Amino acid sequence: MDSHLRTLAEAARGFMPPDEGLALNEAGEAAASRVPGAPFLEIGSYCGKSAIYLGAAAQAHDVVLFAVDHHRGSEENQPGWEWHEPDLVDPEVGRMDTLPRFRRALHDAGLEPNVIATVADAPTLGRFWTTPLALLFIDGGHGAEPAHRDYEQWSTFVAPNGILAIHDVFPDPADGGRPPFEIYERALDSGNFVEIGATGSLRVLERLDNGVAHTPEPRRF
Ligand code: SAH
Ligand code: MG
Repeated sequence: MDSHLRTLAEAARGFMPPDEGLALNEAGEAAASRVPGAPFLEIGSYCGKSAIYLGAAAQAHDVVLFAVDHHRGSEENQPGWEWHEPDLVDPEVGRMDTLPRFRRALHDAGLEPNVIATVADAPTLGRFWTTPLALLFIDGGHGAEPAHRDYEQWSTFVAPNGILAIHDVFPDPADGGRPPFEIYERALDSGNFVEIGATGSLRVLERLDNGVAHTPEPRRF
């Protein structure tokens, strides 16, 4: 990864340790080579940290990252929750707003041409989405409902040979919440994905090329 972008990504606000960010960048590089010309999409951008890691790979391959976030924070980012950062609340609106930081971070990284800020509720956007993806990164709401919904709705868009990356996968419940781990297991159990990388809580899966569009099995929880 370009060392300047790497420095900016590490300095950006957010929730991604450097080694996981680098692995995410490498997943982007691999995805762009496997599925040339297809875009990347991330669910959960926050202040732009992961978007810099993925955007750097998109830029290197002349493709784009759709960075999807409503920028109002997940349940776990709201006041009173563990991952709340009070200065990210818009005092006039009384709600979180991470879009200004996101925009500034991507501007400073020179990645605006390759990272398309998509201010949207992921399930709403998903109702109208049709484009196959070289890479899908799931890092949105980590509750059971949002995580399983993101998996069900979006994993079908990963192109054959493309990559599904999931963040905050903790096999040991003592380390963190279950839903990201559950959707990782669902992806493997579906028979459509195999694991090709694990760094910290990041899991990188590859979509098998069976030539047939496949809908994941119904949820099990
Ligand atoms: N990838 C980021 C961290 C994401 S935090 C990083 O590298 O730091 C999770 C993000 O998911 C929050 O910004 C929240 O607003 C977003 N999110 C949660 N539910 C969402 C939904 N339904 N649609 C769009 N974004 C959502
Ligand atoms: Mg995360």
